Amino acid sequence: MKLFAIFGDPVAHSRSPLMHNCVFTHLGVHACYTRIHLKESAQLKATFFALQLSGANVTVPHKEAAFEACDEVRGFAKSIGVVNTLVNENGRLIGYNTDADGFMYAMAPFQPIKSVLVLGAGGTAKALVNKFVDEGMHVSVLNRSKGRLDYFTSLGVATYTWDTMPQQQFDLIVNTTSAGLSGHEYPAPVALLEPLIAVCHFCADAIYGKVTPFLHLAQQYRKISKDGADMLLGQGVLACALFLDHQFDNKQIETQMKKSFLL
Ligand code: NDP
Repeated sequence: MKLFAIFGDPVAHSRSPLMHNCVFTHLGVHACYTRIHLKESAQLKATFFALQLSGANVTVPHKEAAFEACDEVRGFAKSIGVVNTLVNENGRLIGYNTDADGFMYAMAPFQPIKSVLVLGAGGTAKALVNKFVDEGMHVSVLNRSKGRLDYFTSLGVATYTWDTMPQQQFDLIVNTTSAGLSGHEYPAPVALLEPLIAVCHFCADAIYGKVTPFLHLAQQYRKISKDGADMLLGQGVLACALFLDHQFDNKQIETQMKKSFLL
């Protein structure tokens, strides 16, 4: 039996085991997916091989360490330095990033999107902003503090802090901050967010499983909006296809993985 896992700290909340085990069960794959609470990023590679894993997902705060741990990084993950999917290929650790494509999958019904305001400047913002730039979108990043904005400025996108953000119209506003994850915080002051949301077309949050204060505000303005559940599904489908070496097509995996959201 093949063994897969998700590494994170914390990791108890992760829906990934449910999602992947649902696919394995319904597609008759002899495999099992578990979760591993990993505190030390430096132990990632040794733990992966000690447990003889066939593949793994990586979540907060190990995604950048996972990039460093890989013997080879493929595709989009190479340009952003962030890995969320690991595959054991004949004893070599191969890294991928499926977060950004997962988000694009989630945004498929939200069209057209030509301009985006990204709230936050962490790892998720990095993945999404690079993808949006690749797709030719006009991107702005708004973050609480200035320090993390330099990376985005170097990509050529407009960057703002709460003090410098001008009023503008965007097709999509996406919250990639962790504000609202456990508390009732907005990703930026309400007085700044309200006029921006009022004139945008779509709102999305990377956080899933709850209506965050940001999403609540979007709903008050009657915006078409969604939480991060579809992004979670999208990245999971793409990771599972890599785990199973594209033995099944993505639609088959998606159909089975969706069932886990009803459990
Ligand atoms: P990081 O820790 O890398 O970045 C967090 C960002 O949030 C920083 O820009 C930080 O700003 C900002 N921030 C944190 N707290 C606040 C606050 N109270 N007010 C305003 N800004 C704040 O996190 P990640 O990018 O890895 O993850 C971000 C979120 O995305 C998490 O909630 C995670 O669960 C979710 N996620 C969802 C996925 C899905 O599949 N649905 C996939 C990946 C992530 P500063 O720089 O000032 O500290």
